[in-house]
Amino acid sequence: MRWAQITDIGLVRSLNEDSLCVSPEIGLFAVADGMGGHLAGEVASVTALQMLEQVLAKRLQKREGPEQALIAAVQEANRKIFELASRNQQWAGMGTTITACLKREKVIYIAQVGDSRAYLLRENLIVQLTEDHSLVRELVRNGGLTEEQALHHPQRNVLTRALGTAPSLNVDIYHHEISPGDLLLLCTDGLTGYLRPDEIMLTIRTSPDLDRAARSLVDKALGSGGKDNITVILLEI
Ligand code: MN
Repeated sequence: MRWAQITDIGLVRSLNEDSLCVSPEIGLFAVADGMGGHLAGEVASVTALQMLEQVLAKRLQKREGPEQALIAAVQEANRKIFELASRNQQWAGMGTTITACLKREKVIYIAQVGDSRAYLLRENLIVQLTEDHSLVRELVRNGGLTEEQALHHPQRNVLTRALGTAPSLNVDIYHHEISPGDLLLLCTDGLTGYLRPDEIMLTIRTSPDLDRAARSLVDKALGSGGKDNITVILLEI
């Protein structure tokens, strides 16, 4: 299994509240984008991915099915963050997105909450595998906004679902068959807020290897403003 990973603070923020998790032993790859002041966003995203990895490893060991194990692990991470936020004044209101991929032989399972994303690249196609839980996404779905308007909307960062903000949580789960040569991209909105899918595709396809592709994606987001933290995992399938 080959992959590349980068998390970058961006050009404006004083903290990187994004986190990533790479655990090839269990086939887990995940990104999380935390929010909340006073380090709370970082606490939320780090906690989410630590809990995800721990709980998932335990449940998979007990031969639980991948979808069930993923959902349970994300829900447990949610409870943990909610609990930390309830007990600590300085962390009140913290939350995080999560986009987690569990890779099996011929299938990937993806758990999704928030507006980080998973894309599958196959030959010259790039397909977004996840749906954002965001206000602008709802507006696009209802026909109130175009995709282009959504990209520049002042409330584009408002989430309709996140880990840590309520004691229980609905987790979207997807599964996709994969073929050799496919590439999976997991990323936070610090990338997708600046690069369209066709630009992402072109950048990756014109890079000589995974590491340089990931670097080039981050550099392009930085070159287009880079106001947010940027996190990218590229996984060769
Ligand atoms: Mn972000």
